[in-house]
This record gives sequence, C-alpha cells and structure tokens, in this order.
Amino acid sequence: MWRSWAQTRKETRNGYKKITDRVAALNDLRCGSITSTTGRCGKPNCRCHQPNAPGHGPNLRLTYKLQGKTVTESLPNPAAVRKAEREIEEFRKYQALNKEFLEVNARMCQMRPSEPDPQSAQEKKLSKPSSKKSPAK
Ligand SMILES: [Zn+2]
Repeated sequence: MWRSWAQTRKETRNGYKKITDRVAALNDLRCGSITSTTGRCGKPNCRCHQPNAPGHGPNLRLTYKLQGKTVTESLPNPAAVRKAEREIEEFRKYQALNKEFLEVNARMCQMRPSEPDPQSAQEKKLSKPSSKKSPAK
C-alpha cells in the first residue's frame, strides 16, 4: 500500500514526539559508575594500620564526569547506593532513547524528498540522466 510522504512523516513525527516525551519524563540521571574501594587509609594512627587488621571497606563510591573532570562521591549507606544505581539506570534509559531518537531522525532524513525549487526542477527535466538503462547480460 502506498503511503504518502505526509502520512509517513506524520507517523515518524509521532514516534519522535513519543521519544522526546519519554526523555522529558526521565528522572534525575547521571552517567557514572559505582566502584568499591578497600584498603588502608592515609592516617597512620588508624586501626587499619594495626598488624592483621583488615583494611577499610569495601566502601562504595560513585565516579562520574562533570565538565570534563572526574568527580567521586562516596556512597556511605545502602540508600545512597540505591539512589546512585537509579540515576545510572535512568542514564541507560536515556542512552537507549537517544539511540532511538537518532534512528527516527535518520529515517526522516532518508524519506524527506529534496524539494527542488520550481526553476531548477525544470532544468532537471531537460537534462535527464540516462544511467538507468544498462544493457542486459
Ligand atoms: Zn584507616
């Protein structure tokens, strides 16, 4: 079934709108990773420097980039860890939506006819390319 460019564009536009709506509906997000640190701290008098004492941790922390700088935030309790996990999860959703968004846009670009202005359209008719007819075999 033939579908007009206008109709296809409308459908694609709807898809586009759905994606932007979903992006707008995302919660706080950040691109980061949770890492855990263990070991001894820098304080020589700390218990962790006693013989046979276990090091600190594991301490979880969140690392992310902000304006080109790596920022590290400690995640002192399970609630902080869950919050950071949620933020990273939202970022993954954003990434997926971003991918869809680019795909929809690429499709729109692909489908959009290059509308020549009336004058150059007439010019084209006069100089028709003859590359379509290729000899059989
Ligand atoms: Zn220590």
